[in-house]
Amino acid sequence: MDKENLMYLALKQAQKAYKRKEVPVGAIIVRNGKIIACAYNKREKCQNALYHAEILAINKACKKLKSFRLDDCEMFVTLEPCPMCSGAIINARLKKVFFGCYDANYGCCGSKYNFLQDKNFEHLVEVEGGILEEDCSSILKKFFENLRKLKKENKNKNKNKKNISKKI
Ligand SMILES: [Zn+2]
Repeated sequence: MDKENLMYLALKQAQKAYKRKEVPVGAIIVRNGKIIACAYNKREKCQNALYHAEILAINKACKKLKSFRLDDCEMFVTLEPCPMCSGAIINARLKKVFFGCYDANYGCCGSKYNFLQDKNFEHLVEVEGGILEEDCSSILKKFFENLRKLKKENKNKNKNKKNISKKI
């Protein structure tokens, strides 16, 4: 499978997150062309700030390989990893990270910082961004647009309630 196909599978994971009202980010880990872990963001469901897709995928891969070293593995993730996940990627000694869209706010694989290529660390991780960028960003955009819409609707509902109670 080429990198676009593998990113498409990560995107499928992001869609699962979307359906469950989680910020839609998905990740997969590949070893010798074989997928060994799939995960999506579960922060809301588990109410846990650590449960990003990348962390959950690393967790699964380590369990599967019975090793914390994933040095012959590659990760495909739909959004540029944040500081926490970039740190976990370095600690897991991943070989390469492919990501979909860039994250100007939290991205630590080139946007805000580039932890993976920082020579101050002993382990460098190859990185390539912008794979299926449009698809990976449009699902996020759609998610946040809906969220804003819902918030606005709720606000209006509350306003109406207040108006009704005034009339009563
Ligand atoms: Zn993260």
